[in-house]
Amino acid sequence: MQKTSLNYLWINGEKLSISETIDVLNPATGEVIDQVPNGGEEETKLAINAAYRAFKPWKRLTPSQRETYLLKWAENLLDNKEELSEILTEEQGKPLSESRGEIEGSAQFIKWYAEEGKRIYGEVISGSSENQRITVLKQPVGVCGLITPWNFPGAMVARKVAPALAAGCTVILKPASETPRIAIAIFEQLMKTGIPSGVANLVTGKASVIGETLFEDKRVRKISFTGSTDVGKRLMARAADQVKRISLELGGNAPAIVFPDANLDLAAEAIVGNKFENCGQMCNGINVIYAHESIQETLIQKITTLVNDLKVGIGTDDVQIGPLINGSSLDNVNQLLQEAKEKGAAVVIGGEPIKDEGYTKGYFFKPTVVSNVTLDMKLSQDEIFGPVAPILTFKEEEEVLEFAEKSPYGLAAYFFTKDVNCVHRMAENLDAGMIGVNGTQLSVPQAPFGGIKESGMGREGGHYGLEPFLELKYISLTLEND
Ligand code: NAP
Repeated sequence: MQKTSLNYLWINGEKLSISETIDVLNPATGEVIDQVPNGGEEETKLAINAAYRAFKPWKRLTPSQRETYLLKWAENLLDNKEELSEILTEEQGKPLSESRGEIEGSAQFIKWYAEEGKRIYGEVISGSSENQRITVLKQPVGVCGLITPWNFPGAMVARKVAPALAAGCTVILKPASETPRIAIAIFEQLMKTGIPSGVANLVTGKASVIGETLFEDKRVRKISFTGSTDVGKRLMARAADQVKRISLELGGNAPAIVFPDANLDLAAEAIVGNKFENCGQMCNGINVIYAHESIQETLIQKITTLVNDLKVGIGTDDVQIGPLINGSSLDNVNQLLQEAKEKGAAVVIGGEPIKDEGYTKGYFFKPTVVSNVTLDMKLSQDEIFGPVAPILTFKEEEEVLEFAEKSPYGLAAYFFTKDVNCVHRMAENLDAGMIGVNGTQLSVPQAPFGGIKESGMGREGGHYGLEPFLELKYISLTLEND
């Protein structure tokens, strides 16, 4: 296990340690594993100064020159995959196999944007008079503040930093306080590429102070935030006074809808794979399962059989599920379940925290399946962010379309059917930014990941993911008459 302390910020290409620190805990054991800087206004200002100085030279590089650094960064991540995966698992809790997948996925994402940066094209438009020439340029926005959450603390860094740098922006990253070490380590691999000083900076510490300093400074032209809807809404309001550009990737309440004609084995496998990944702490993760009443019992039985085989434990052991991130997440999952039980929900399997020997200090919860869930329960309305699969039933597809329409969220929705007419109807009518049909894989570098309504605005992934880091400029040239 990696024991090197990662107790520094990255500012202007250099490590900076400060005396005030915050503890980083292992959620599987409750042990303090490291202390990282508790940065604030002063450190954030240093980072902004560095990013501002670095912006013009970085913007002037050709996309191919920027690509070189990004490709090397991706290569470095893969060369150091084991060490990085261990750091990720130690502070986040997820099984090592998932951490390895996250580091590989991060490298793929970076490689994709390294390439795509070369395909930022403008446009030539016909003029309105014989001697007018119109060109549209796409230029980097400038210095960007990037704020990331703890649930995919490696991937989120790659998903924001790579498109920003490929577009020609410079950045200040503020990672989540639960999982700062993996971000620091991933930045170390970026610095090893020899990227010019100040292009990428990282500040850990007091979220509200770092956030406020980024919003207050007019040189910071854009904020890209991934996290909870509550914080996202506050940041959106804060962005208003400077009309600062902002992208938001927020929470969700994804339904998985299983129609009577679906391949139930495939549906159960896909649902369990998605629902329990990362201990259920996934923004586009399935929150509720809608089983058609005619196949409800069979589906519950298939799902329960698979859940029964899931091994929970410390992420470095051979397990499929690690702990929740912290005590308040554990309490939240417990409370949602208790309220549902009081209102008539039935626990089919699991249903409580694990307090066996060896698990007492970690935030472990048994993988849980709950039936008889109804719409008046918070379990079906709130983002659970835990290993609990609530099952509701439906008769007509309108019921589930209405569920998605009424939900304030609109990140992802999944459904399972073999009927091509149903596929088109549901895909077109479900209120969500991303739809999975007969499968749940959504997070790939080439596709636009993101939500509608209170799940956010803007997209990460694909050529769409470059747009938030680019400004349009239109030039009207008037030629002199011959
Ligand atoms: P969070 O509490 O909103 O925190 C996210 C990040 O924002 C952290 O770095 C946090 O720093 C920072 N932050 C908190 N208050 C801030 C403020 N006033 N100003 C500036 N930054 C501030 O969310 P979380 O609990 O870490 O993440 C889970 C949520 O993220 C879930 O709702 C999940 O659905 C969502 N999520 C969405 C996506 C997506 O793509 N749509 C992806 C992943 C996660 P501290 O850690 O220091 O408090």
